[in-house]
Amino acid sequence: MHRILSSNPSLLHHIFQIAHSPEVYRPEQCPRCGLACLWLHGSYDRKADRSCADGETSLNHVPVCRFYCGGCGRTCSRLPLALAPRRWYDWEVQQRVLEWLLAELSLRKASECARLDRRTVRRWRDWLRAQTTLFSFHLRERFPDLGRTGDDWKAFWRACLDLMPLREVMEMLDRKLDVP
Ligand SMILES: [Zn+2]
Repeated sequence: MHRILSSNPSLLHHIFQIAHSPEVYRPEQCPRCGLACLWLHGSYDRKADRSCADGETSLNHVPVCRFYCGGCGRTCSRLPLALAPRRWYDWEVQQRVLEWLLAELSLRKASECARLDRRTVRRWRDWLRAQTTLFSFHLRERFPDLGRTGDDWKAFWRACLDLMPLREVMEMLDRKLDVP
């Protein structure tokens, strides 16, 4: 899908990039019609910075560039490594919580520590578990050592997140699949 750029791991990196050379976000071709000529067409704002408590300075609103396709008239955009498509929270927050769960912290504890709704935490865990077969198929192709974890989904993800952060795992998978 290539909706995630393989750079700009933090919101600050991304904001700097948008200010100085937003062109790096231009997709090589339109994801809908395949035409290779897209024009920068403004941006939309994402309330992407979820890290602050009330009163702290936030990076919101974070701009995401939009590109216009002259072939089909649709617009598309790409996200920095820091942001997760269709998710309220970024990969870093999700990784922290998932690692707690993989280390056998309870849902209740993990949601309390992260100050997140328990249903959100459960949804992330269930998503990761449900996608393990598909995701691990592609990841083991690239990193054969991950095959040693066998059928234990938690062991697989622990080994995987030891190798690289979740945002890089998802960027890699996004080239082949529709994540998350
Ligand atoms: Zn198009």
